[in-house]
Amino acid sequence: MYLSENKVKYIFHHLWQHVRIHNLEPHSIIIVNDCKEIPPYLENKIIFIQSSQAHPEPFEIIFHGKKIPILFGTKDPNGEIYHFDTKGNLIFRHDLLSSAFYLLSGQQEIEVEQKDQHGRFPFELSIQKKLNFVHLPVVNYYFEIITEGLETFAQNHNKKIDRLRLFDSFAFFLSHDVDRIAFHHPFYVLYRLKQFLGLSPSNLSKSKIINLFFQGLGYNLNPFKKEDPWWNFGKLINLEKKLGIRSTYFFLKREDGFKNSLYHYKNKKIKSLISTLKKEGFEVGLHGTYRSAEDGQNLSFQKQEFETATGTKSIGIRQHYLRFSHPHTFKLQSNAGLIYDTSLAFAEHDGYRNGYCLPFHPYDFETDQMMQIWEIPLVMMEVSVLNYRQASFEELKQAVNHYIQEARKFGGLFSLLWHNCRINDIETPGISEFYTKLLESIIEEKPQSLRGMDIYKRASTFEQRPPSDIFKLI
Ligand SMILES: [Zn+2]
Repeated sequence: MYLSENKVKYIFHHLWQHVRIHNLEPHSIIIVNDCKEIPPYLENKIIFIQSSQAHPEPFEIIFHGKKIPILFGTKDPNGEIYHFDTKGNLIFRHDLLSSAFYLLSGQQEIEVEQKDQHGRFPFELSIQKKLNFVHLPVVNYYFEIITEGLETFAQNHNKKIDRLRLFDSFAFFLSHDVDRIAFHHPFYVLYRLKQFLGLSPSNLSKSKIINLFFQGLGYNLNPFKKEDPWWNFGKLINLEKKLGIRSTYFFLKREDGFKNSLYHYKNKKIKSLISTLKKEGFEVGLHGTYRSAEDGQNLSFQKQEFETATGTKSIGIRQHYLRFSHPHTFKLQSNAGLIYDTSLAFAEHDGYRNGYCLPFHPYDFETDQMMQIWEIPLVMMEVSVLNYRQASFEELKQAVNHYIQEARKFGGLFSLLWHNCRINDIETPGISEFYTKLLESIIEEKPQSLRGMDIYKRASTFEQRPPSDIFKLI
């Protein structure tokens, strides 16, 4: 895949946030298409060979003992990843630039037309699933390979080179999508009755359903009732404050029947919750409704409504159901004035949808250029692990440990979405205790606990553009 000049620029832009070589002469980096020979006049250059393959033809290489899939390039996995020729040129033989572009820009999502029932890019059809690497931030590995090559080049040519890390250790970004706030809402109580009568579908036993129905009925009739199990914000806030966590809460408005929430932004309870969260130092943002991923007017209207009702500007968004049309949804979000999105994970599997464990800019394929909006990739949503994958608490914990190790390796982030309505012992016995212990164990790893807005601010202050004449395509 021969990348356009802007696409190469996009990759170097992101690479530049990891490594910077000083005093490089203009056009020190040369991109050569594999249909040509490397011109004999090139000396002391950094050369990347671009593969002519139109689609990925993956193979594996071993890098520091780890198997890393390369998507485009010369099919000689035993050959060196890079080498120096007699003229002082550093030559990368595999097409790491196209491989990185394919994943980071989300190009695979443009190529696959099939979507799941919610209009989402299905994990089943992803290259991550096919090659079993969703658990690896492979773009970070590609950048690491390039960085090592550049370090040797800098040493050979007496150039100063800096390695950079966005976070000293790693960042932990915890967030909550506030989809549902009343477990015993009369709508659900009635729904359970319908389930018991066989009028609505259910995967619970009849006795469990009728038990829940009576609990709900009792709850609604009790004048001295305790807090609803889904109105657990006091507990969440206290736990996070105790552990020094500052998280982000995304609020979803009522719209289109029951596809979204059962509350409005202007509800007294919601307004008061939002003001408490803000006072306590948490971030509040927009949880875009089901329809908003495809409907720009709807999204802009929602943002205005949120801001008018709560007096808070929302700079970040997560789309409900992780619905996302890539890169169309990014454009709608940008137009609505949003600064970052944090929806990009596969709904059905935790891991790295864009192969990257740091904030990044998406790519606009229509205008062939990098977009300004930021994506803070979502690494794990609890529903993906516990429901879609049907994994146990212990497996979830192991996966978290793994993602933390990857984040630490690259000064990146581990982001975790946990719905408030999934911390309910009536539905999932033992989950409150597990969740508490999980957060404690994450904090023991000494991350920087940051809200989405802090991550965006850090990434944008840290960001530098590479010199515009750094590379040349020949
Ligand atoms: Zn949601």
